[in-house]
Amino acid sequence: MSCLFCKIVEGAIPSTPVYQDPLCYAFADIHPQAPVHVLVVPREHIASMIETDQSDQALLGHLLLAAAEIARNKGLGDGYRIVVNTGNDGGQTVDHLHLHLLGGRAMTWPPG
Ligand code: AMP
Ligand code: ZN
Repeated sequence: MSCLFCKIVEGAIPSTPVYQDPLCYAFADIHPQAPVHVLVVPREHIASMIETDQSDQALLGHLLLAAAEIARNKGLGDGYRIVVNTGNDGGQTVDHLHLHLLGGRAMTWPPG
């Protein structure tokens, strides 16, 4: 499997773990864009939201709730942002579905 995040999930490429459970793994982004920048990925390889369907409903909900739990553990009670870059137009650079959890500073809108 040549996927970068699959290798990180397997431990073949090192990462800084933040949270893990049977369905997902969360680790620190290597180029943080905020004081807290965590990536939450499913252990199962799913390329992007484009590939998802109803069968992924529980897993996608699980990823969101995992991100919210990590945010609580990181003390982000004033808020945070969850981003899922999707496909070429969405600015996705790693083709393994991932949630960005960003916090610890005020975010701006609109995004670039
Ligand atoms: P995206 O552009 O939404 O596909 O996000 C990919 C993210 O993965 C970027 O924020 C990168 O900084 C991050 N990233 C790439 N390689 C690694 C790595 N080896 N460990 C942790 N984060 C990474
Ligand atoms: Zn993968």
